[in-house]
Amino acid sequence: MASYSFSSIDLYENCPWAYRKVKKEGIKRITSEPQATGRTVHNRVANYLERLIKSRNRTDLEWAERNPLTNSDCATIWQRFYRNFTLPDMQDPGVETKLGFDRHWRPVDFFDPEVRFRCVLDFHYRQNLLGVVTDWKTNWSMPESIEKNLQLRIYGWALKRAVYRDVEEILLRLHFLRFGANRQVLLTADDLAGVPAELDAMIARIEADEKFEPTPGSFCGWCGVTAHCPEAAKALVPVEIMHPVNHEGAVEAAKLLLAMQAMGHAIKEHLKTYVRVNGPIVVGDMLYGPFTTASYDLDPEKVTGYLLDRGVDREAVWGVLNLSKDSLEKGLKKAGFKRQRKRERDELMRDILSWTPIIEEENIGFRKIKAENQPVERAEAA
Ligand code: SF4
Repeated sequence: MASYSFSSIDLYENCPWAYRKVKKEGIKRITSEPQATGRTVHNRVANYLERLIKSRNRTDLEWAERNPLTNSDCATIWQRFYRNFTLPDMQDPGVETKLGFDRHWRPVDFFDPEVRFRCVLDFHYRQNLLGVVTDWKTNWSMPESIEKNLQLRIYGWALKRAVYRDVEEILLRLHFLRFGANRQVLLTADDLAGVPAELDAMIARIEADEKFEPTPGSFCGWCGVTAHCPEAAKALVPVEIMHPVNHEGAVEAAKLLLAMQAMGHAIKEHLKTYVRVNGPIVVGDMLYGPFTTASYDLDPEKVTGYLLDRGVDREAVWGVLNLSKDSLEKGLKKAGFKRQRKRERDELMRDILSWTPIIEEENIGFRKIKAENQPVERAEAA
């Protein structure tokens, strides 16, 4: 029986062709550097947690210091983790817990022949009637808050269904290892109720697909099977030029690069003319076409005067003199208006932006397709 996981379903949603190559034909995905870093750090954190749980210690700095990681990026992340982490008060903890479910969503062994859906929980425990799941993240950026998306609801649902059946709520925590900070969301029974039906619908779509069409888009840099993709093959770059191994190949690659730069420029100009007349075009999950961007014409004198009047520290105010909306918001965060004072920061931003003129500019390029990136109506595009 075919089995699924969130990552395999997500692979299909991004590109059915990539799914077919990896899941049906067994082609190995090329591991990117961020993925390799994530794997190394996850393994090390898991070993450390198992060690702490077994020894009933909250930390083991001596062991951690004696076992650095060799890759410098991984070493920095690992060091930040063990220097800040303390095992919490908890009951029934689990690390890298492998969970399996059959087609009726009953828990079964991870390797059971009837298993249809699998998931692995990085770290979980309970505190009386609260279940807690932590997922380790090695991302370079951290969002202000997190949504109750399907992946997080799957973790919460699986924990309650197979591990802590009597807990009332699940605290889903993402721990951003590079920042040593958490983002978390509380999942109630209502949030988890629809998970099996959502997964059934997605699995049914995969099982009904007979074509598995490639869908080039923003995921192409991440699929790991570009070498097996008919769309990528259309690029027609011979392998000895793509990966030169001698002087001759390198010269050919440099020549091609020069030609491609000139060609790229020409294609861009022609494509711009085309979309100006005919409107945007869709390529996978990307849209190429004209977009209006809006920026605020912030007046440094007026803004700094306002912030000083509102009691913001003088040194922090000088820091935002190179003004844009982003630098202003970053400057306010630096001045102490962080998460705890977000409401005050939002109020300052709202005030300033309410009296600042907006400059609208037109750009032509690629945008990921989502509601706010829909092209604006343009009179001359008729
Ligand atoms: S390169 Fe793009 S279109 Fe081709 S398999 Fe990968 S994601 Fe799909």
